[in-house]
Amino acid sequence: MAPAANEAPATREHEHVTAPSSLCVYCGSRFGTDPAYRSTAAAFGGTLAARGIELVYGGGGVGLMGTVANAALAAGGRVIGIIPRFLLEREAGHPNLTETVVVETMHERKLRMFERADAFVILPGGIGTLEELFEILSWRTLGLHDKPIVVVDTNGYWQPLAGLLDRVVDHKFADPGHLDHLAFVSALDQVLPAIEAMPRAAGFSKTLDRI
Ligand code: AMP
Repeated sequence: MAPAANEAPATREHEHVTAPSSLCVYCGSRFGTDPAYRSTAAAFGGTLAARGIELVYGGGGVGLMGTVANAALAAGGRVIGIIPRFLLEREAGHPNLTETVVVETMHERKLRMFERADAFVILPGGIGTLEELFEILSWRTLGLHDKPIVVVDTNGYWQPLAGLLDRVVDHKFADPGHLDHLAFVSALDQVLPAIEAMPRAAGFSKTLDRI
């Protein structure tokens, strides 16, 4: 859900973030079929810690979410988990995070995750991961923020998504500029360069077709 104008997220709009100090990671609450998904999540957690970048995530101790958090913690990194009260049990709220923020709703969770991150990284995941990606992408099309979004396309997992987004633009349901702050990368070492290379233009707004 995109916030109404009077409840727009507290974005640091147009801020020039070359090296992010905190990254929000969206990824699966399961491991998926390919062992590379898990090893990528673990490697990314370690990379964030090594770079001194704070990890913001959904606060669970399950699946790839738990994997990335554990790896960042094990490497001495800062990890902030934001989890709704009703999911504390189901997603095994991680007991050892640097900070856990317990919220009441899924919407509040996503808003807090959005506010605390300089950029977003999407690892393989399921419906929830897609929902989280599409929310920040749709906020982007409304010009509500210009934070970079990087999709890590481990072993081509996200190729159908890249194809779908191209199709949306080809069929003129979105402008190419709406995807300026979205990059697909195939390897983890491309994530930070992709974030740093992204334009920091003013928020791009959607034009609508009047009847
Ligand atoms: P999944 O990719 O389906 O394994 O879900 C990944 C994460 O997204 C889990 O922590 C889910 O609880 C979370 N999630 C799913 N739907 C939503 C939503 N509408 N708002 C916030 N988080 C969500």
